[in-house]
Amino acid sequence: MSLGWKWFIEYQTPNSAHMHGIKSVIYSGKSKMQSIDIVESCEYGKMLILDGKVQSTMRDEYLYHEALVHPAMIAHPRPEEVLIIGGGEGGTLREVLRHTAVRETVMVDIDIEVVESSKRYLPELSRGAFDDGRVELVVGDGRRFVEGCRSRFDVVVVDVTDPLEGGPAQLLYTKEFYEGIKRILNEDGIVVTQATSVYYSAYCFATIYRTVESVFGRAGGYQAWIPAYDSMWGFVYGTKGPDPRVLSGDEVDERLVKRGIGDLKFYEGAIHRALFTLPRELRTVMKNAPVATDSSPTFMPI
Ligand code: SAM
Repeated sequence: MSLGWKWFIEYQTPNSAHMHGIKSVIYSGKSKMQSIDIVESCEYGKMLILDGKVQSTMRDEYLYHEALVHPAMIAHPRPEEVLIIGGGEGGTLREVLRHTAVRETVMVDIDIEVVESSKRYLPELSRGAFDDGRVELVVGDGRRFVEGCRSRFDVVVVDVTDPLEGGPAQLLYTKEFYEGIKRILNEDGIVVTQATSVYYSAYCFATIYRTVESVFGRAGGYQAWIPAYDSMWGFVYGTKGPDPRVLSGDEVDERLVKRGIGDLKFYEGAIHRALFTLPRELRTVMKNAPVATDSSPTFMPI
């Protein structure tokens, strides 16, 4: 990945981009799955970049990881068994483990080099989460893991890279994949996935929503502003049990206190309500999008 004249340019579409000033390159490598770059950026501090796409930055990763993890975990009455697919840098794992009801978390990432380089150069992200006795780290393809899995989970968090054509996560946003997830969820289980930008890839976000809804029947989408992604970022959930969207702000705050989750930087009751308030235009796109299948997967524009 060329940093050019101390600039890293991340394309949101073929003709729009976010330029990040870069002070230094901390690590740059290529695993069997993807290119891995860890840089010190001017605005966002240290930054993990995979295949040219910003994954996490020190400055705003908490917005993404709290928005991804807590709505589903708080909505579940007692999340004891959790599966994380992807999440290599450890921020998602860190947030899941805050929930004291969690007895076991299995984390499946296809690329051990992302995990290792994040533990080495971005320890502030995982903050020791990988050493927690409740964690089992599996190195492998999340799709294959789900297909062969005999365990059952209360919450599944899918935090894989974006659906890029030819990318390692290409088949983790399809009907067949979510059917596999539904099979390994307990009767009141919930799945949540990152679902790309609701602005630059609204159609992709809407397709992910319709695909999850076609499998679960009860599904929803929500959004959070992630500055480093230069966009409102979308998340989609499907539920066999409680629906996160119906929780009031007071109920969320009560549960956070009851479950001893006090020191979040972003997520709380009022934020929960705001996350689930989607603009009409986006809700219309969500209604009319197609369902993604293995034979016709959905992709981001770039
Ligand atoms: N926050 C990021 C985002 O929103 O795009 C995702 C974070 S995390 C770095 C993405 C992880 O997904 C990476 O560690 C990558 O190795 C992993 N991944 C990609 N495809 C995968 C697959 N098929 N199975 C398991 N992990 C996968």
